Amino acid sequence: MPSNPSGDVSGIRYVSTRGSAPELSFGDVLLTGLASDGGLYVPSKSPTIDWAATHAAGAEASYVDTAIEVMAPFVVPSFERDEFAAIVADAYATFHHDDVVPLVDLGGGSHLMELFWGPTLAFKDVALQLVGRLFEAELNRRSQRLTIVGATSGDTGSAAIEACRDREALDIFVLFPKGRVSDVQRRQMTTVTSSNVHAIEIDGTFDDCQDLVKAMFAHESFRDDVHLGAVNSINWARVMAQVVYYVWAARKIGGGGPVSFSVPTGNFGNVFAGETARRMGVPVSQFVVGSNRNDILTQFFGSGRMTISGVEPSLSPSMDIQVSSNLERLVFDLLGRDGEAVAEFMMTFRGEGSVAIDPHVLQSLSETWSGTSVDDVETLETIARYNADHGMLVDPHTAVGLLAAERLRANPSHPMISLATAHPAKFPDAVRRALASPDGGKDVVRPALPEHLSDLMTRDEQFTELPNDLATVEAFVQTNRTPD
Ligand SMILES: *Cc1c(COP(=O)(O)O)cnc(C)c1O
Repeated sequence: MPSNPSGDVSGIRYVSTRGSAPELSFGDVLLTGLASDGGLYVPSKSPTIDWAATHAAGAEASYVDTAIEVMAPFVVPSFERDEFAAIVADAYATFHHDDVVPLVDLGGGSHLMELFWGPTLAFKDVALQLVGRLFEAELNRRSQRLTIVGATSGDTGSAAIEACRDREALDIFVLFPKGRVSDVQRRQMTTVTSSNVHAIEIDGTFDDCQDLVKAMFAHESFRDDVHLGAVNSINWARVMAQVVYYVWAARKIGGGGPVSFSVPTGNFGNVFAGETARRMGVPVSQFVVGSNRNDILTQFFGSGRMTISGVEPSLSPSMDIQVSSNLERLVFDLLGRDGEAVAEFMMTFRGEGSVAIDPHVLQSLSETWSGTSVDDVETLETIARYNADHGMLVDPHTAVGLLAAERLRANPSHPMISLATAHPAKFPDAVRRALASPDGGKDVVRPALPEHLSDLMTRDEQFTELPNDLATVEAFVQTNRTPD
């Protein structure tokens, strides 16, 4: 496999999108969440892939070899290449498909990339299975421990628990809202019996859970005492792990030529990984951003303006987001990588609730980017149509991306690759509703859990119920974490 063509031994440094936080190495960025100036870390320069020289051999390479080739320039020398290669191989051995992220031909130049073959059935496993292992290696090197605390409305909690379970340098506490996550999602968290995993049911809403986590991070003495850490989606290592499958799919399908991607989007982490691949040299002609009724991104790509409004629940709950944190990384590039300008842009957005980019920036953005919003009725119709036409079940998030791709595909001669972000069995109620017969007769289909989870609904559950009270939750974490 070709290695970092720049041959730079000092490695890539990481800078904040707001320009006034210290530059860090990969190892530091891995363990750091938000930059101290409130920005997000990005690489100071982009490694490059020599597309012409590598696409043909790359189309034959395994996913793991592609992953090592694509990510090594980002992590060396914080991680030695051999150590990193072993971690990557170990992370993707947990996937239940030989191709890790298999591609399905839908005909007419349309393809589906299935990102849901990991342990918890959503694409977040692709990044978190790697990040959990990188955490452990880096913490062991530094003789440090971390107490990971997170709030979840569903998918992130289970993926983070699977990534951290049984890792000696980590304890993980996940707060979920009572009665507001699906049975499958709750059981994926509560049936893990590892002693370093703590699922906590909070008597409150998802926002209450998130406020408790924020309050723990703001409580300095507590934070330092327990070595608080996070695995949220602004972590650069999560974006980096997702770059790989854009390279992989473009080589497998593009024949060296341009390809397009459609991505069901929430926090903008997944599709920004695609943009990173494009900057490295992958010929991407179009990114389609699919949103549900929470359509701030659709507005941004249409008009250049984004305006905050309230979050409304939809059938694709992992995209029920209005402020997409990772968009700041794209804005950094759009504003000429000028940290001060980004800080001002974000301050206007937060202060006035609305902000716009220059019309000429919007014009160049529009050459590659477009967005569309898909409502719940259209989501159900799309699930039913793909079942009828292709005999396949898709989850509601994937359905949003598929319909967005149909609506906005710009060039029919460029293959369009839609990203399937969750397994249909993770959202059985929406799938069942979509496929129930219109006359109100009995349900026709209930998507089955894959074999490794087939007994999920009968496994013993283990979790702690706590009130929505900061002192109680902090005391629980103190008592149950592994002592230093
Ligand atoms: C998290 C998630 C998304 C949104 O991904 P972002 O990186 O936040 O844009 C889409 N679909 C599913 C199933 C998810 O779990």
